[in-house]
Amino acid sequence: MVDRMDRLRQMLDEEDLDAFLVTRPENRYYLAGFTGTSGAVLITEREACLITDFRYDEQAREQSPHCRVISAAGTLPEVLAGLGGDLHIRRLGCEGDYLTYHQFTELKEKLGECEVRPLAGFVESLRAVKDDSEVEIIAGAAKLADMAYNHILPLVREGVSEAELALEIEFFMRQRGAERAAFPLIVASGPRSAMPHGTASQKMLRRGELLTMDFGAVLKGYSSDITRTVAVGRRDKKMENVYGIVLEAQLAGISAIREGVRASEVDRAARNVIQKHGYGENFGHSTGHGLGLQVHENPRLSSRDDTELKRGMVLTVEPGIYLPGWGGVRIEDTVVVGKNGCRVLTASPKEDLLICGG
Ligand code: ZN
Ligand code: ZN
Repeated sequence: MVDRMDRLRQMLDEEDLDAFLVTRPENRYYLAGFTGTSGAVLITEREACLITDFRYDEQAREQSPHCRVISAAGTLPEVLAGLGGDLHIRRLGCEGDYLTYHQFTELKEKLGECEVRPLAGFVESLRAVKDDSEVEIIAGAAKLADMAYNHILPLVREGVSEAELALEIEFFMRQRGAERAAFPLIVASGPRSAMPHGTASQKMLRRGELLTMDFGAVLKGYSSDITRTVAVGRRDKKMENVYGIVLEAQLAGISAIREGVRASEVDRAARNVIQKHGYGENFGHSTGHGLGLQVHENPRLSSRDDTELKRGMVLTVEPGIYLPGWGGVRIEDTVVVGKNGCRVLTASPKEDLLICGG
């Protein structure tokens, strides 16, 4: 973490800032290891202060021994104003994409002479490239998701509700050490599977429907993300055909990933396959996203993101085809970018459209 702070200090230098104020919980955790729900990290050229209040004082000292812990009453801008002269801050960067307008205004007001400069994606740009320990945590979270998928398959059958399946997946993951589910589980059957974000409802599964399950586990703050689509009871030619196209697109996306390639090129590789088969209009979202302390991070595997991929970035690859009234197919894996390719962290089978409860 000291290493991360040093890299941030280099960025401060480049931006000509004296200090940066970190308030987004994931960024605070990334730099200071602090998991409390209230607090801010102030990083100056020489110091790192964790500003929190009485409730978190002990926890802060325990989790963030490399920070000076300041427990104070009052709003964050008030506390900073009190410290200001002490720390010689004339130019302070803050998280323009996280602070509310109200907080930003108060900060400017209380800090008077000090220039307060909002920046977007500052700490996030560091977070995009994961170190080995982060990758191993995400690999563990991916394994939990794989185990949950394997566990749920025998329970998929006509008459069971989406909500029951979602609950069972979450229960299973948490029983085995997940802190929580990475996001509200998507379990969408039949026509509902045509909604890319159809969270589990009370709808019962019926024979001959497609079922899309999209979920992840959180371990030590880091998420995994996987989607599999199966058929309930039986499958037909159209399902097989659409599934085959999505799989081909997903494999093309995965094959395109390696250090130095642009995010948009990966999107194009997957999208071309779906367009070639005439379903371009039915794939309305990006091919994937960065993944880590947040479920959706940069870079995005989208036509609009030209970020060059770097070794250690963790991404999802998740093309889909959605046909309103009929249903949808999506296949998603979590991968980590390497020098000559990528390592796929989620390992659940996907080669064929499975028939469950047949
Ligand atoms: Zn997902
Ligand atoms: Zn995803």
